[in-house]
Amino acid sequence: MELFFKKEIHEARFLDPNDEFQEKLVRFEVRTDSFTGSKARVLAHRWRLPKGSLDSFSISKSKEKCPFCPERVNLSTPKFSPSITPSGRIRHGQATVLPNAFPYSQYSGVVVFSDDHHIPLNLFTPEILFNALIASTVYIKRVQEVDGSVAYTSINWNYMPPAGGGIIHPHLQIVVDKKPTNLHGKLIKASLDYEKSRGSNYWYDLIRFEQQRAERYLFYCGKAVFLTSFCPRGMLGEVLSIFNETTSLQDVTQDRWMCFAKGLSKILFCFHHLHVDSFNMTLFASLEKDEEFWVQARIIPRVSLPPLGTSDVNYFEKGHDEVITIISPEDLAGEINAFAEQKHNKITKDGR
Ligand SMILES: [Zn+2]
Repeated sequence: MELFFKKEIHEARFLDPNDEFQEKLVRFEVRTDSFTGSKARVLAHRWRLPKGSLDSFSISKSKEKCPFCPERVNLSTPKFSPSITPSGRIRHGQATVLPNAFPYSQYSGVVVFSDDHHIPLNLFTPEILFNALIASTVYIKRVQEVDGSVAYTSINWNYMPPAGGGIIHPHLQIVVDKKPTNLHGKLIKASLDYEKSRGSNYWYDLIRFEQQRAERYLFYCGKAVFLTSFCPRGMLGEVLSIFNETTSLQDVTQDRWMCFAKGLSKILFCFHHLHVDSFNMTLFASLEKDEEFWVQARIIPRVSLPPLGTSDVNYFEKGHDEVITIISPEDLAGEINAFAEQKHNKITKDGR
């Protein structure tokens, strides 16, 4: 595994205006994950907790024209054709599945979590998340029934504007397609190549490696294992959740979904306490059994940087396909573990 994770320490010097122009030495890391092909530069010296999220006035204002609020959802959102469902929309518990009005794949759905217009990250219970995930699978299975050629799916989430969320009302975006997206395809190919060259499963090896190193490992619930990525895809790092020995969406039983929902709820609670109230999530799954590639999710905290609301995506990521991150993955794991412990104690104490 060490062969895949490379870390170089680089140095830069300048004359510091905050220290009478004495020479200042700054160290940063250049990380490479040869398996995923990603690179990140860790500038841990810039780490400080971001402050502030979307204000309550903007949230209540956005409710006035929200297409997903219960008084508007039936009239202002699209319906599926009868071939998908005769009722036009799929309902599961509190969740509603409808077609994406801005589709970017042949089968592009939206799952509205509930009637609640805004849910702070510390209040996403496992039940709310589980319900929306199961609603997603109802839609995905329905697509499989009408089109046997689809083979890949992803469950995606842009939460709040800093993460590209154009609608505050919590919703997931589902893609079902014949071909995987770029990263999904790269991960599948790399998993196959690894199996062929080493005779073992990359995800099995990665989980064991991270458990033994205990630097980025977070926790597990049943088959859902959570850790921070060595080479993150966001300025504030990345959480990776791997469904142990789960080789297709079919393998994700209700128990496994609930375990993932419990872990995700914990991660979102921790983000909230780190003053990060926005994130992207992508869950990749093959629809047919794929022994080499296990179902997995990437959860990337997002933030607008104060005081100007500056984007956390810059030319390095856009133009060079490398990420500058301001917290080391090991420090992020430490922060999350500390808050996860608090949540665990609170659950034990309150019985919720
Ligand atoms: Zn709403």
